[in-house]
Amino acid sequence: MSAPLIQLKGVSKSFGNTVVLDRVNLEIYESDAVAIIGPSGTGKSTILRIIAGLLAPDEGEIYIRGRQRVGLIDDAEGQMAIGMVFQQAALFDSLTVEENVGFILYQHSKLPQQKIRDLVHQKLEMVGLRDVSHLYPAQLSGGMRKRVSFARAIMSNPENSQDNPEVILYDEPTAGLDPIASTVIEDLVRSLQKAHGVCGTYVMVTHQESTIRRTADRVLLLYRGKVKWTGTVCELNTTDDPTIRQFLSGSVTGPIEVFR
Ligand code: ADP
Repeated sequence: MSAPLIQLKGVSKSFGNTVVLDRVNLEIYESDAVAIIGPSGTGKSTILRIIAGLLAPDEGEIYIRGRQRVGLIDDAEGQMAIGMVFQQAALFDSLTVEENVGFILYQHSKLPQQKIRDLVHQKLEMVGLRDVSHLYPAQLSGGMRKRVSFARAIMSNPENSQDNPEVILYDEPTAGLDPIASTVIEDLVRSLQKAHGVCGTYVMVTHQESTIRRTADRVLLLYRGKVKWTGTVCELNTTDDPTIRQFLSGSVTGPIEVFR
């Protein structure tokens, strides 16, 4: 197997007295489609924010293409670009869809407005949206807002290919969507990976079973700050690991502690 694109070695993170991540090791390889699953509050989003370089670990090392990342993403020069799709879409309410999707280019490039518009339309088409550029987030459905946030995450800068995301991090992309809207988003994640090749490597945090099964090849279960289980999506059906079995069945009895 080739060297990992991203590697976490012994990463720990606490908030106050709560240890959220406890010496976690994790490797993400090129073309990986990884789902990080686990009960709520177990540190899944925290791991994503650490991978994205938005949050620093207390201990441990992060390697990007074998090179150690020191500090947060803003401090690093020439690092691999990582796109992130946030849980609540995290769009700017006062900006139009076009301004949201083109935000990075409007802020950080010298491209003419028409060029940015063309790129915005191209990305919106890739996520299946048309004629929405002029709308504000409040005028869109939950599923459409998620698509707009996908388009923003995959925005590329033709002036600087280093800005083009090689890895996409999805934080609960189907949370709050009905089952059909969830399927549409799950199919979109796969189609972006397969047809467009722009999101070929991704890490997805989810606890929705349909999302795990439709979007992931590899699964990693996080519980109490540790990676408790890793395997393929097929192995989810056959493993007798009690934590996985309880998580998937939603049973209140098992190793996962239940807060009533
Ligand atoms: P998950 O994504 O698995 O639901 P999170 O990573 O969001 O879990 O959070 C894990 C734990 O860390 C939770 O108890 C949460 O309250 C806590 N936490 C996350 N971010 C912060 C923060 N910035 N400050 C304090 N506590 C936090």
